[in-house]
Amino acid sequence: MREADIVVIGGGPSGLIAARTAAERGKDVVLYESKDQIGVHEHCAGLLSIDGLDQLQLGNLPPEVVQNAQVKGTIIFSPSGQALSVSKKKPTVLVVNRAKLNQFLFQEALDKGVSVETSSRVIGIHRETNSLVLKMGKKALSQDIKCNIAILAEGRFPRLNEQVNLPVPSRKSIVFSSMYIMKNLRDIDPEFVEVYQDQKYAPGFFAWIIPLNDRIAKVGLASYTVPASDFLNSFIKNHPIAKKKLENAVIDKRMSGAIPLGSYIRKTYADNVLVVGDAAGQIKPTTGGGVIFGGIAAQIAGKVASDAVTAEKYNSQYLSKYQKLWKKELKQNLKVMKLIRSYINSLSTKDLNRFFILLNKPRIRNKISESGDVDNQKTIVFNLLMNLNLWPILLSTGLKFLLKNKEKKK
Ligand SMILES: Cc1cc2nc3c(=O)[nH]c(=O)nc-3n(C[C@H](O)[C@H](O)[C@H](O)COP(=O)(O)OP(=O)(O)OC[C@H]3O[C@@H](n4cnc5c(N)ncnc54)[C@H](O)[C@@H]3O)c2cc1C
Repeated sequence: MREADIVVIGGGPSGLIAARTAAERGKDVVLYESKDQIGVHEHCAGLLSIDGLDQLQLGNLPPEVVQNAQVKGTIIFSPSGQALSVSKKKPTVLVVNRAKLNQFLFQEALDKGVSVETSSRVIGIHRETNSLVLKMGKKALSQDIKCNIAILAEGRFPRLNEQVNLPVPSRKSIVFSSMYIMKNLRDIDPEFVEVYQDQKYAPGFFAWIIPLNDRIAKVGLASYTVPASDFLNSFIKNHPIAKKKLENAVIDKRMSGAIPLGSYIRKTYADNVLVVGDAAGQIKPTTGGGVIFGGIAAQIAGKVASDAVTAEKYNSQYLSKYQKLWKKELKQNLKVMKLIRSYINSLSTKDLNRFFILLNKPRIRNKISESGDVDNQKTIVFNLLMNLNLWPILLSTGLKFLLKNKEKKK
């Protein structure tokens, strides 16, 4: 039977980053991807923080991956159409082509010595004394494989977690998204991402216009209710502000996907196993962004797996180090973001509009601009809580939120 130190299951960004990290530490790493190619499907908006990319050693992406490097801010529209514009002096995020990013990560993994096999679905895991045997699907090119550690990076609908008695991300909090690349838009600023927060058009989430330049953008939304494409078509046709920008636009490409917005899973390690990325629920519940957080956890998983191989320690007690380390990096923000998402979803349209009026006051808006950070949202929450002008609305809506939550739990 074929053997490897570490097997990574899934060729998305999390799997590729975990594989790259373990291979650059000299380990024998095999990565299996069920699709026939890596980096052909672009189902993601590709909005990534520059600091986050630096943390993943992706600070120098080639020009063909980057679609817009000018974004300095966000304009958030309330249901009544008020615009809250927050920005930095310099760009803080990049818009990337996600298929091309995956291709880039794939090439990096190959360069570090990862052996990658596509059209290869792993369908089963069973444990032998101190190792794992992975069973390959019928179409896979190679036979079953034995390894010391498996890193599970199957994405949003993982099937292997439960085979090793690990939880899966909650299906209750999944939002479904639809996104078009549209050409010929009007009145869009390549320096600003637009977010439309309105339960009528995007129940449970928001709609977005992410500019690639002043004529082309990724226009999408996610919602708890399906089909998301119906909501998107209605947004394009009927939203009082967006429709003017989109009335002459044409659809160049259509994409869809699902985003698990619940919490991270309770346990992300077992004997010989680590779970990373969407499969572990390492996604920001506020924005649905999973590339940076999943990537940070994947880097940690690659290091811990590599250390485990060096130390020849594969038990869950040793591997629990992975969970301690990724939680140290991400837990506080994930918890705060989950609270923000549930809180925003609990607000009535009237309260949301009232909130926007207050947030738009120059002192508060400047504070948001200063401390706003897509990856570190706990700082901005802290700063907003320090502002006494917001306390009356926070108290009244916060009370309603607590009562709603209590009723839900009953
Ligand atoms: C519409 C939309 C917009 C988004 N926008 C953003 C954004 O702007 N910024 C951001 O950061 N994130 C965004 N996300 C989220 C982001 O796409 C995910 O968080 C990210 O792709 C997760 O990476 P992953 O490697 O964990 O999983 P995936 O990218 O899903 O990769 C998992 C891979 O594993 C393979 N696989 C699954 N099971 C097996 C198996 N048993 N054997 C072999 N291979 C297997 C799959 O084929 C897949 O290629 C968006 C998502 C959607 C749907």
